[in-house]
Amino acid sequence: MDPVRPTSDNQRNALKNGTLPEIEEVRPGIHAIALNMPGMQPRYAFSYAILAGGESRAVHLIDAGLDTDENWAALSSALAGLGREISDIATVTLTHLHFDHTGLANRIREASGAIVRMHAAEAAAVREGLQFSAGHDVGDMLGQWGVPTQFRAELLAIATARADFGSAVTIDSEITDGDLLQLGDYQARVIHTPGHTTGHLCLAVESAGVVFTGDHVLPVINPGIALGGRRAADPLGEYYASLERLAPYADAEVLPGHGFRFTSLGARSAEIRAHHEARTAQAVRLLAAEPGLGVWDLASKLSWTGGWDALPIVSRISALAQTDMHRARVLAAAQ
Ligand SMILES: [Zn+2]
Ligand SMILES: [Zn+2]
Repeated sequence: MDPVRPTSDNQRNALKNGTLPEIEEVRPGIHAIALNMPGMQPRYAFSYAILAGGESRAVHLIDAGLDTDENWAALSSALAGLGREISDIATVTLTHLHFDHTGLANRIREASGAIVRMHAAEAAAVREGLQFSAGHDVGDMLGQWGVPTQFRAELLAIATARADFGSAVTIDSEITDGDLLQLGDYQARVIHTPGHTTGHLCLAVESAGVVFTGDHVLPVINPGIALGGRRAADPLGEYYASLERLAPYADAEVLPGHGFRFTSLGARSAEIRAHHEARTAQAVRLLAAEPGLGVWDLASKLSWTGGWDALPIVSRISALAQTDMHRARVLAAAQ
């Protein structure tokens, strides 16, 4: 299979330089709008605006960035440049419940009457109050993960602060796997891809040769798994199955939630899977040598980009959750 290759210099260079990419028409009528995430990593999230052709002024949005006044203004001016307004937005389809994707949805809904839709499993998680939790109580997990006492207060403070990004999103329409959505002149197929979150979805537009992948498949970053909604018994296995569900679109160009667009979906999916499998294999070796290793100690021995000690404390909760997954998988396989 071909190696992963960026398909936009504009987006690729922006990511490299830490700037925001310019708005870009990626297919006729499909525009990628980068919305800022100040002080965060990744630096921006894409919202995709699909314009109906002909007489219609309707705009269909996929994902809605982080809820800030700056992003509201950026989205308004991006649409103005396309001869449209916020009030023209007819639908907002959300790939998943994270606040960097749902942010402006409530405001858009109020301003335009847009129908906001999400996968049914994700909508259920929002209703249950799980939009801002990672599917587990971090306070409880810190003990189970064997986090040394001196780090617990700081990690808990970060987890709590991160849970404070606006109010829960209001959903008008719940969609499920196989649904066909009419987005302007394009028809998009809903593919349920649980893993990153419970009700994550991707949208495949076969006629355009693209798949909107949200945070399920990203360039550069290996998406975190089990970061929202109900936690599966084997989150990694669930995620792999979701990668396989996209196999019919292996040659497609990916329009991701962050970073830059690229080809191909199949090549990048294989890379991500290999990354996780290597880490599981590493966990197998470490646990064979020291069967009693807890999550914290195991995490400190696994390879992380730049090393565990250099991993910012904000990234450690996610790293610990990922380590927990690999450890559980190894222990389950050993039984
Ligand atoms: Zn996400
Ligand atoms: Zn995201």
